[in-house]
Amino acid sequence: MTKKLFWENPYLTTLETVIKSVVGNSITLLETIFYAFSGGQESDAGTIGGYPVLEAINSGLDIQYLLPEGHELKSGDRLRIDIDWNRRYRLMRLHFAAELIIELVYSELDKVKKIGAHISPDKARIDFIWRENISQHSFRSLPLRPSTWLI
Ligand SMILES: [Zn+2]
Repeated sequence: MTKKLFWENPYLTTLETVIKSVVGNSITLLETIFYAFSGGQESDAGTIGGYPVLEAINSGLDIQYLLPEGHELKSGDRLRIDIDWNRRYRLMRLHFAAELIIELVYSELDKVKKIGAHISPDKARIDFIWRENISQHSFRSLPLRPSTWLI
């Protein structure tokens, strides 16, 4: 299991850790601060041992990081992870904004259902099913209709 330090401290931007496994260009780490796409939120960007991470994938209790062809990392190597903080902080803020909107929508619309979400550094989208067009609904707790929201 990769210990996911981003749950305990989402403000860590760098970490020294150890490689648990290497299979070709895919590695796992003992612990990580590098988030992998999940729940609609995009993966972090950054480097592991100085190599750019091409993809971060949740795999059971581990996270697999895909590195470029020709990396020279071995199991047991100590190395440093650096994440792109500007990107991560945007993802965190937009995720939180999306959670607020979800709570608002659930508190005001009867039998509404969230069916999807996508959090990118530039925008967040939440998909709902409801009996009417939500973008035309007047929310009691907000002065504007959803179609005019800009976060
Ligand atoms: Zn969430």
